[in-house]
Amino acid sequence: MSGREALVLPLVDDPVTAPFWTGARERRVALQRCLRCAYVRWPPARVCPECLAEETRWETVQGRGTIWSFAVYVRALHPAFADDVPYTVAAVELDAGPLMIGRLDEAPSWEPAIGDRVEPAFEDVTPDVTLVRFRVIA
Ligand SMILES: [Zn+2]
Repeated sequence: MSGREALVLPLVDDPVTAPFWTGARERRVALQRCLRCAYVRWPPARVCPECLAEETRWETVQGRGTIWSFAVYVRALHPAFADDVPYTVAAVELDAGPLMIGRLDEAPSWEPAIGDRVEPAFEDVTPDVTLVRFRVIA
């Protein structure tokens, strides 16, 4: 196998993370909000990292944010990414609160910088798996 088929895909039917993946398929960024302390978290988790409560509610957020850090990959660390290098992965501080990791879709004239504003972009990898990426806000 080569290319995108060789990707290690997320388990989109895991009961803890499924609402996030369903949201991505529907072009939404869905995050968990703790019903005890209101902390908004990503990645999805069974319990709140702030207060350990299990009660949670899924909310759709706009998904915009600011680049907090990024790395340009010039070597593929997995064979599935061999055709993609160089590519950029960013840590984006979402306006909704949490830091989310995702690939940056780079316009030809854009060199990412810390502080750049981005919005979510969605990549359908399979009929069941859509990944959340980011692109600069023009
Ligand atoms: Zn909490």
